[in-house]
Amino acid sequence: MYNTNMKRFLVISPHPDDLDFACGGTMAKLIQEGNKVEQLIVSDGSKGSHAIGIDGKRLKTIRQKEQRAAAKVLGVKNVYFLGEIDGEVENTKKLRKKLVEMIRTIKPDVVMSFDPGALHRFDFPPRSHRDHRQVAEAVFDAVYPAVGNRSFFPELLKKKLFPHTVEEVWFFAPEKPNKLVDIKKFMDKKIKALLSHKSQIKDPNALISRIQKMPRETFRVVKLT
Ligand SMILES: [Zn+2]
Repeated sequence: MYNTNMKRFLVISPHPDDLDFACGGTMAKLIQEGNKVEQLIVSDGSKGSHAIGIDGKRLKTIRQKEQRAAAKVLGVKNVYFLGEIDGEVENTKKLRKKLVEMIRTIKPDVVMSFDPGALHRFDFPPRSHRDHRQVAEAVFDAVYPAVGNRSFFPELLKKKLFPHTVEEVWFFAPEKPNKLVDIKKFMDKKIKALLSHKSQIKDPNALISRIQKMPRETFRVVKLT
């Protein structure tokens, strides 16, 4: 795993649950190894249901609760929500500023996020969701170069949010992985975390058998320093 203990990881996810699918086992493993893992969920998940009778506002509250429950299973203490509207996320200067603000506040050594390069194949529609594409690029734009450069969003300096160096990005769901994490020992935690997202699960048994067939999580690690 990572060379030194006590690295700070920030996992940024377009919706509640994406991060638990992509790297739930790795988050549990990193925490057990002594690292700190925090989560930032960009959209409110308010369109993530086909059920009639659940309005977006209620779903937003439900999904925040589900995400906090999933985080607790993995040992993640801090979950932040940006509250962007589900399905309407755009990689704007405003979003990049919010991301830079969060990253300069949390000061992670490593940011984990969707691999922007892998989202443009459109062969597996749920992966290429527009919010995923927009968030993946916005996160990259925020970590390089904005977060470490004082000329980006100079108004943040007045809030004592100074440039911060993110050492690495671990892109999850990558096209060309260069890091494989064995999560067999953390499979139970990953499954339990995923099952916390009750509003999203039609068939829990199908989900469990699908996840059990994936004993490794993959990443493309990119060094920024
Ligand atoms: Zn998603």
